[in-house]
Amino acid sequence: MKIIYTDCLVVGAGLAGLRVAIAAKEQGLDTVVLSLIPAKRSHSAAAQGGMQASLANTVKGLGDDEDIHFSDTVKGSDWGCDQVVARMFTHCAPKAVREMNNWGVPWSRITKGPRQVIMNAEKVTIEEAEEAHGLINARDFGGTKKWRTCYTADGTGHSLLYAMDNKAIEMNIPVHERIEALALIHDGKRCHGVVARCLVTGELRAYIGKATTVATGGYGRIYAVSTNAIICEGIGQALALDTGVATLGNMEAVQFHPTAIVPVGILTTEGCRGDGGLLRDKDGHRFMPDYEPEKKELASRDVVSRRMTEHMRKGKGVDSQYGPHLWLDITLLGRKHIETNLREVKEICENFLGIDPVTDWIPVRPTQHYSMGGIRTNERGESPQLKGLFSVGEAACWDMHGFNRLGGNSIAETVVAGMIVGKYVADFCHQNSLYLDTALIEKSVNALQTEIDGLLYGEKENAENVFKLTSEMQRIMMSYVGIFRNGKELDKAVNELKALLVRSKNIVVKCKKRHSNPELVAALRVTRMLRVALTVACGAAARTESRGAHAREDFPQRNDKDWLNRTLATWPDADSLEPELHYEDLDVMTMELPPGYRGYGNDNAISHPDTEKREQQIASILADLDDDADRFSRQEALMPFTLPEALMPRNERLNETFVPTSKRGNTTDDTIHSLKKSTNLVGEKQL
Ligand SMILES: Cc1cc2nc3c(=O)[nH]c(=O)nc-3n(C[C@H](O)[C@H](O)[C@H](O)COP(=O)(O)OP(=O)(O)OC[C@H]3O[C@@H](n4cnc5c(N)ncnc54)[C@H](O)[C@@H]3O)c2cc1C
Repeated sequence: MKIIYTDCLVVGAGLAGLRVAIAAKEQGLDTVVLSLIPAKRSHSAAAQGGMQASLANTVKGLGDDEDIHFSDTVKGSDWGCDQVVARMFTHCAPKAVREMNNWGVPWSRITKGPRQVIMNAEKVTIEEAEEAHGLINARDFGGTKKWRTCYTADGTGHSLLYAMDNKAIEMNIPVHERIEALALIHDGKRCHGVVARCLVTGELRAYIGKATTVATGGYGRIYAVSTNAIICEGIGQALALDTGVATLGNMEAVQFHPTAIVPVGILTTEGCRGDGGLLRDKDGHRFMPDYEPEKKELASRDVVSRRMTEHMRKGKGVDSQYGPHLWLDITLLGRKHIETNLREVKEICENFLGIDPVTDWIPVRPTQHYSMGGIRTNERGESPQLKGLFSVGEAACWDMHGFNRLGGNSIAETVVAGMIVGKYVADFCHQNSLYLDTALIEKSVNALQTEIDGLLYGEKENAENVFKLTSEMQRIMMSYVGIFRNGKELDKAVNELKALLVRSKNIVVKCKKRHSNPELVAALRVTRMLRVALTVACGAAARTESRGAHAREDFPQRNDKDWLNRTLATWPDADSLEPELHYEDLDVMTMELPPGYRGYGNDNAISHPDTEKREQQIASILADLDDDADRFSRQEALMPFTLPEALMPRNERLNETFVPTSKRGNTTDDTIHSLKKSTNLVGEKQL
């Protein structure tokens, strides 16, 4: 048995995993990254529209800052997020964008002077300031008050991942490719690493680390149609679930993106609507203003997806052999804009639809897109139950998205969480020794070996085909655990998934090769995916309210009184057919922004008994502050948060420069000097 030792083990080579690895390596730690595929092909490369950070360079972002980004994020989450984490995130997002700039990302830039943009279907001329010339630009996105989404045309994820991976290569961080982690090695209290299988040779290996970070992305492919890469199958979440100890958080919070092309489900970015694109129905009517007069096409994603579905249910969809769809119209943006800023969208339309979006409308329909749920961690990114297990990025429920993520806040999360959690992972590695229990390692590897032998050579009656079971699971999730949910269908989903889980014990893999065997790979995954799918469906069935992307037709109100909490799921009994659910309350009395009206449709939320009390407390805290208290002091008085020291300094903006005042002001400490230099306003121009 091959055992590989390291200080910092990272499972996943997308943006989040690589950023953690870089943070650990910077601290002199031995670091190994595992990935199913070459790092540069990780799903992060698919991100199109951009990364949110309140730089406030463009005239349409003027006045933006961490406070507004924070408030947009909390409202976007439908008050389901961890507000401290949202604060940590919004504070570091400008630093992350500027750091990526210094690592080579060719951000789209501002040109001084007048430029024409499309706003609310009209051509408008805006004037960019002289001093903003050459700084990082930002576009409009859904659910945001300012233009805040920094972009490289519509290939933002591609640029970021290439720059990040090049940095990792420069630092000699090894990525072990075509390796699949399939189990965590743990003793119920402490995580020691993973058991992994080489997808080429079939060899099983144990990877042992002081800290193990799961950064394996989302679980979109438990659904039949998804914008996600086909490797986004939730195996990372299953790693934690299968320990029986570590919890998953808010797994029922699944986002559907409004504009995936029909029928294949490839995404056309929210940047299309951010830049001025419109949604039209079968009559060519622009229908979003009828439903959401203020934000129109740029309402939050969950809202637009629901409105589109509602409109199609009224018979306003365009009939097609693949079911009804609506139109995304970007023709009004013009050829030059599309070929410059939306060129990936143009290529997708040409290659997969045979149309030219410069002249043709794009057939779109809401489609599974993002997993808000994931491995539950604390603010430092560590599992509260299993010491040494960390998680970041889409794999995690660090919980800055609550029940709905804002567009552009995910790749921002991957880099920011990678920065923050990476530092905490490094601290953990410095403070803890490598612990080696060969009996435990052997037991874990043998368990996987037995599972594989059973799939290849087990005696089974009623042999089941793995691919049939997988597509059956995906159909159930798509039909019954979708955009609109109700108790009857969710119960049906749970029962049918349980039946599939039972049947999965009879899977027989026809191809008997131990190496390069896609059927065996799928068989190992499907039972894990089914447990993840059941966790989503059971969580959705239990949550009898509507919050963010979790919309119950039979419980249409957001119910803060009974449901202002986070769903926690474990699977303690391996033979059980369903997870155990617990709930973690969100404490209104510590919130900076107590629950309120989100700004869409009727305000029909059932309020929490503490909301009024907290509002009064906030008013009195603010009244007690000095008259000249700035926004930083006000924020700190309401909800303090901490970060690694190097990340504490304030962000500079064109209209906001700071003199040293407090721990969050500029500091002259040498240890943070170089980071500051590359993450301040001056650093933006250093390319
Ligand atoms: C089409 C599309 C466009 C998007 N556009 C945007 C956007 O414009 N802005 C935005 O903010 N967000 C966007 N998103 C969301 C965003 O891209 C993702 O949430 C984010 O990139 C996830 O990054 P990650 O590092 O967490 O995981 P990924 O990039 O998914 O990386 C996961 C890594 O884990 C590895 N892995 C997985 N399982 C295993 C295993 N069992 N063993 C070993 N390795 C494993 C994979 O090989 C991969 O390296 C978009 C998403 C899609 C689908």
